[in-house]
Amino acid sequence: MMSRRGAGKRKRLSGAGRRSAVPERWRRLNRELPWLKFAVLSAVVVLGLWLGVGCWQEIDETGVEASGGYAALAVVVPVQKRGQDLEGKKLVALTFDDGPSAATTGRLLDILAEKGVKVTFFVLGSRAEQNPELLKRQVAEHEVESHTMGHIEMTKMSTEAVRVDTEQMRGIIEAAGGKLELVRPPYGSVGVSAREGTGTPLMLWTVDPEDWRVRDAATVRQRVVGAAFDGAIILMHDIYDSTVEAVGGIIDDLRVQGYEFLTVSELAEVRGVEMVNGVAYGSFRP
Ligand code: ZN
Repeated sequence: MMSRRGAGKRKRLSGAGRRSAVPERWRRLNRELPWLKFAVLSAVVVLGLWLGVGCWQEIDETGVEASGGYAALAVVVPVQKRGQDLEGKKLVALTFDDGPSAATTGRLLDILAEKGVKVTFFVLGSRAEQNPELLKRQVAEHEVESHTMGHIEMTKMSTEAVRVDTEQMRGIIEAAGGKLELVRPPYGSVGVSAREGTGTPLMLWTVDPEDWRVRDAATVRQRVVGAAFDGAIILMHDIYDSTVEAVGGIIDDLRVQGYEFLTVSELAEVRGVEMVNGVAYGSFRP
């Protein structure tokens, strides 16, 4: 025991000897180069200011709120880059309501993956609960938002009922790894309960091929491509075979016309629109 303690003491002593060499080196540096301390200090201050100012500019330009400046930098920069890449381009957002459906949504996801197109799904809670794996894939690959639990017209619901419905949808979407930020009221029916109960912006549309009525892929394709414009939000339903069949051709035709495809949230951001809770949006024109 004694000898081990002694060895430890010797070791500490020799360590202390090594440490004292470092301050001596600094003292010598300080004597020979008295301006060095000032230069290092100035460099640190300038770097700090530059990082700080740059960081807040990023947040201001995009309107993204964030609690931590540096975390915000990591999130904001890629979006800005994307915005710059898309400057002057024609943009549309494809949106799909009423799913997910075990019969059709998987096939649509395969087509979108093959074409490299990101869309927004407005899912029904009742159908999402029946297809949890599909919902997870939708969340992983696209934007997923609420179309209510059971497709009831919001003007026939109380504000409190809409609030409860939205919270239920939030739970379902979050359990799949997503984040509820928008609600699309069924039938596009917007009243006080929708505006106040959701606590989110309301996302409507401007191009509607009535795919639920025609159930014909060629007609759906023709109607969407014929009515598309820069900033349009296109409404379709992923629960119909005819719609899924039309999507590949719609993407090809619109690409020939120079269109790029974004989710609705990306489209709003690229067009510099800061969406407000309770306000309904149908397009984001340049
Ligand atoms: Zn619907």
